[in-house]
Formats: sequence, structure tokens, C-alpha cells
Amino acid sequence: MVNWLYKIFICGFLLLINSKLYAQYDTGYVAVDIAQMEDYNLYPSYDVYLQMMERFATEHPDICKLIEIGKSVQNRKLLAVKISDNVGDEEFSEPEFFYSSTIHGDELCGFNFMLRLINDLLINYGSDSYITWLVDNVQIYINPLANPDGLYNGNNNYVTNSTRYNANGVDLNRSFPTINNPVFDFYEPEVKAMIDFANAHYFSISANLHSGSEILNYPWDSFYDSELPLPDNSWFEQICSKYVTTARKIDPEYMESEIAQCGYVFGSQWYKISGGRQDYMNYFMRCREITIELSNAYFLHPDFLDEYWHKNRASLINLIGESLHGVTGRVTDFNGNEVNNAEVIVLDQDKNYTTVFTNKGGYYFRYLPPGDVYEFSVYADGFETINQVVATQKDTLVSLDFMLRNGIAYYPLPPIEGVEGEVAFSAQFDGGKIVVESSKPISDLVVVDSYGRILVKSKPKKFKSEYTLNNCSHGVCVIKAECGGRSFTHKLFITK
Ligand SMILES: [Zn+2]
Repeated sequence: MVNWLYKIFICGFLLLINSKLYAQYDTGYVAVDIAQMEDYNLYPSYDVYLQMMERFATEHPDICKLIEIGKSVQNRKLLAVKISDNVGDEEFSEPEFFYSSTIHGDELCGFNFMLRLINDLLINYGSDSYITWLVDNVQIYINPLANPDGLYNGNNNYVTNSTRYNANGVDLNRSFPTINNPVFDFYEPEVKAMIDFANAHYFSISANLHSGSEILNYPWDSFYDSELPLPDNSWFEQICSKYVTTARKIDPEYMESEIAQCGYVFGSQWYKISGGRQDYMNYFMRCREITIELSNAYFLHPDFLDEYWHKNRASLINLIGESLHGVTGRVTDFNGNEVNNAEVIVLDQDKNYTTVFTNKGGYYFRYLPPGDVYEFSVYADGFETINQVVATQKDTLVSLDFMLRNGIAYYPLPPIEGVEGEVAFSAQFDGGKIVVESSKPISDLVVVDSYGRILVKSKPKKFKSEYTLNNCSHGVCVIKAECGGRSFTHKLFITK
């Protein structure tokens, strides 16, 4: 009897120990130390992920920098690396490219691939001539995990319990501002971090990695082409086609989706969503973002990671190279000073929010199909609008600089046809400047001080503009603005 009880006790104890051991992490799925990630055939635990990101930067400090872009609901880190030569500098003459994955926490393989891509770029810099050229000429940003709370749902060592949503139960890829709903009272922290990060940069091409299908899609997700025609369709189709063609050299049947045999589709033609990051990046940031659906399995078993990585590796690297095919240039005044936030307009082409703006160094990047001739116009407040013609060339970044003469700007495009919905407008006085911002381009702006003197009179045709006030008296001023067919009047208190 005693012996029998003793046996039960021992068995129970062993079972407990056993379950404890195996409960610690997802055996066969998760790497719990960095050495287990050497072949990239597992998903890292959260701690291993952090260690890997830190190690990329410490082992390659000349070309890799770790950036914390924010925190999740449960305080996990939202991380990105920047990979570029002169990685500590903002190089305005170089385009900024952005990859981000796993905004849906249960779509995992892109997370693994982004870590592997970072490693690939870093270890091949200096030996692979194409990768070296990319790193030397593009500022590459990679955020492997946009939704860490979803992926490590409840346990930092588990990935098989992952969920699509963040810790508030929200689908982050339905939670970005939209054309019709541009300003929220509350932003999910992961969304807010991504918006702030995008605002601090001038991303010219980006991609958002998902799974659950094998297909690429391009904007818009929230409008049919008939509702908001996108003049850049043919450029999007060309870069998607290149991605698929390259991937099919490894697997001829890859991305042969029922949705589109060609492997890519106009977003809303597949299914319409609102609040996706793709439309946000294209509409608000004037970036060209596509969505890459990497595997039909939402959760790609680790046994298939290597195979799928090899299908996508060359395409992922080549897509970064698209940043260096198009038209670039610097916009300056006659003294050679950069004109930032100038609007670069392709005549007979741009409409519905496809124009781009110059960055802080006065540089712009505009991607267009090669082998055609385009007329560019540059619009900047306080300067005469000028036009120049350029011919695009295959696999080349053609230069087209603009030197602007002081004068009166005219806007060369007809006003954007209204999209129904609320218009948000804000104005503030900050550091000697009036900063106005709206969800629709501001067509007219007048600032009058309390004596009735006009301080600013402008037709910005932009979402955001800034005006430095010289020698003006302090006190109350009134701002009147027209945007999106509405009038706004704001009072501001100007301090010296
Ligand atoms: Zn997804």
C-alpha cells in the first residue's frame, strides 16, 4: 500500500516536472537562445528577438543602427534597424526604403524573413556588389515585428498561440487614419508609433508583409479604381510583376493565386478594407507601399521557412533596388539653398494624392515606368512655379533638379475632387512659426494680427505648411483657411 502510494507520488512529481519543462517554450518552433537562430529555421522567443536586433547593430556599427520606434500595449518594444552607409547621418540625397512585417501577429513568416534579410544585407555588404550598392545608396529601414503582443500572445516563449490582434483585441491594419476619417481621438499605441515613425522620415517605397495568401496587392484598399483612380497603376503593376517573376524562378507555381494568376492584384479588387496601413502610407505619406502575402499558411511551420525564404530572397532584395529606378532631384532657390516641402507634380499624370514632396534636404524621389517622357512641375510657396521635361530610363535613377526664382506660385493642377467626409484642421504657434495642418490640402490661408495686418497670405495646396513670423507683434492673431471645401477660423496667441 505504501509502495503503491509512493509510486503514484513519484509519477505525479515526474509528470509535473516534465510539463513544466515543456511548458517553458514552444518546442520545435521557438529558439530560446540566439545560437538556435543560426540557420533561421525557427521563430525567436521575444528575448532572442531583442538580442538579435541589438547584435545586428553592435556587430555592424558602421552600417546598422537600432531604432526603438515605440512600445506596444503590453510594453513590448517596437524595433527597427536602419541599414545604410553613413548610418548615423540623414542622407537626404538617398531614398528611404521601409519594410515592416507581422502587423497581424499570427502571420509569422515575414518576421523570420525580415530578420534573415537584415542578416543577409549585413554579412554580404562589401562582398556582394549589388547588396553593397544598395546599402551605399539607399537608407533601408526594417521593422520585423509590428505587433509583438499579437505574436507573443500571453507568453514570450510561445508563437503557436499567436493572434491577429494587438493586446486590446484590435486589428492594427484596420486602425490607421483614412481619407474619410483622418484624425482620431485615440490611436492604438502600435499605430501611433508607426505614424510617428513614418512622419519622421520620407519613405519613398515600402512594403508590409503578411501571410494567409500568396499574392501581392497595391493601393487602393479602400477605394475601387473607379472611385479614386490611381495614375500610378502601371508602375505598381511593373514592380509587382518583377517580384513575382523573380520568385517564380525558384518555384514556378508560387503566387499562382485563384485571385489573380499573375500574382498581384489591385487591393480593393481583392477585398475592400478601411484603415489599412497601405492606403495610409500612400495617401498621407506619399510613399509607394505594397502588401506582400508570403504564404497560404498563416502560421508557416518552421520546416518550410527555408524554402519560402529562398522563394522570396532575391525579390525582397530587388524591391529595395526599385528605390534607385525613377526620377530624383534637388529643389533649390537661386542661392542654392534647399526648398523643402516643395510639391513635385507630374503633369498629365498626377491626381488623387500621388504628388510627392521634397525632404529636408530639398530632394524628391518620383517613381514612374521607364521609357517615357514626363513633364514635371514644382510648386513651392513664394517661388515661381516652373516646369521641366524628363525621360525615364530602365533601371536608372534619372536626375532632374529645379532652381526656383522668388515669385508667385501657381498650382498647376485642377483642385482635387472632393472625397466625402470630415475635414480636420489644426493650427498652432510653435518656436516662432505658425504650423497649419489639415486632412485635405489647404487651398487658401490668411493670417491676420489684432491690428488687421496680414501676416501670411498663401495658397499652400498642401496638408501641412509652416510660416516663420518675422518682426510681428505678440498677441492674438486670426487664421482663416479653406480646405476640402470647408472654411476654418482659428485664433492663436503669438508669443515673442
Ligand atoms: Zn495580414
